[in-house]
Amino acid sequence: MRKKFILEESELPKRWYNIKADLAKSPDPLLNPSTKEPLKPVEMEGLFAKELVNQEFSNERWIDIPEEVLEMYKIYRPTPLVRAYGLERALDTPARIYFKNESVSPVGSHKLNTAIPQAYYNKVEGIKRLTTETGAGQWGSAMSIACRHFGLELDVFMVRQSYDAKPYRRVLMNSYGASVHASPSEKTEFGRSLLNSKPEERGSLGIAISEAVEAAVSHDSARYTLGSVLDHVLIHQSIIGLEAEMQMEMAGVMPDKVIACFGGGSNFAGIAFPFIRHNIKAIAAEPAACPKLTRGEFRYDYGDTAGLTPLIPMFTLGHDFSPEQIHAAGLRYHGGGRLPSHMKREGLIDSAAVDQDEAFAAGLIFARSEGILPAPESTHAIAVVLREALKAKEAGKSEVLLFNLSGHGLLDLAAYEDFLPKI
Ligand SMILES: *Cc1c(COP(=O)(O)O)cnc(C)c1O
Repeated sequence: MRKKFILEESELPKRWYNIKADLAKSPDPLLNPSTKEPLKPVEMEGLFAKELVNQEFSNERWIDIPEEVLEMYKIYRPTPLVRAYGLERALDTPARIYFKNESVSPVGSHKLNTAIPQAYYNKVEGIKRLTTETGAGQWGSAMSIACRHFGLELDVFMVRQSYDAKPYRRVLMNSYGASVHASPSEKTEFGRSLLNSKPEERGSLGIAISEAVEAAVSHDSARYTLGSVLDHVLIHQSIIGLEAEMQMEMAGVMPDKVIACFGGGSNFAGIAFPFIRHNIKAIAAEPAACPKLTRGEFRYDYGDTAGLTPLIPMFTLGHDFSPEQIHAAGLRYHGGGRLPSHMKREGLIDSAAVDQDEAFAAGLIFARSEGILPAPESTHAIAVVLREALKAKEAGKSEVLLFNLSGHGLLDLAAYEDFLPKI
């Protein structure tokens, strides 16, 4: 019984996949927030590297991965695809469960898949300094490694709540040489104005984005980077699903359902989009505390709290929505992003909302049966896998389920410490 499906380094995909080339109907455009006209590529270039803007607007199906990016991917890619025999036994289900293990990256999550190309394109274009935000610290630590590798300075605005509650991530970012600021901070006008009116503000991803954007646009040789939501990020993450597709072929089956947790949609899109082109069903697992695809409203909304970003057509809970402080900080984003929202509206993907206790309980079943402690974000995907596996059991169906283990939880032990007394 084969447990792991491993690709050779030479089999690493050489191109990313862009699902926009295969959509019958295109998503609505981003809008310039002042003119309300469709956003032009040139209007994004003060904020993002030009090549990333090109990718944002690209309808090409395949995009070449630069050699330097492939070289750095090889530190941890291709990642394993694993048959979860232990979990299947624990659930006594006829479903066959596979997972793609993105927790093996040096930061313990899928975020490095896009941090590497984002740092690379900025370096090639002569940018010296990058800014970004981070919630739990996953994205910030990925950018810290990538910036160090390509010789760029990095300012990370970290949601104050996590900055205080998760000091180890900050230490990790500092270890790679990044500067980390608790957000709201005194470094930006927006941060100062918030702290003035509400000194006890604990921050949010939306606020941190506003600060990082402000810090980037106020310097010529600085650019901003975003770890999720935008099309170019989703394109980079397709490496997950492209590898998984080859590995499922090795396993000799195709999944009936692909499942991933959903914050801004990048790991979900990463694993699911390459399969959706073969008409395979995908389910986005959201936290019940922030269920934008499941309970949000489809409309134009800002990507950040201050309203500095382009207007995005998406399922949203409102850009000023302040979700409960759940442990899965990476899922506390108010909007579903343009592409996943469009696909939800077109009936191409499903979503499910999972509350925190159900997610942690599922995470522990996984940890005890497969040996890997999942990130609090990933436990939401596992909870949906459990629901589907139990349905398969009731129906006596040997369904094939594939999910993305977006990260491990070894830097989230405080969250597990909170939850353990409840079981
Ligand atoms: C950031 C993060 C997420 C959520 O972000 P997406 O863009 O929705 O993938 C999920 N899991 C982990 C481990 C993360 O670090």
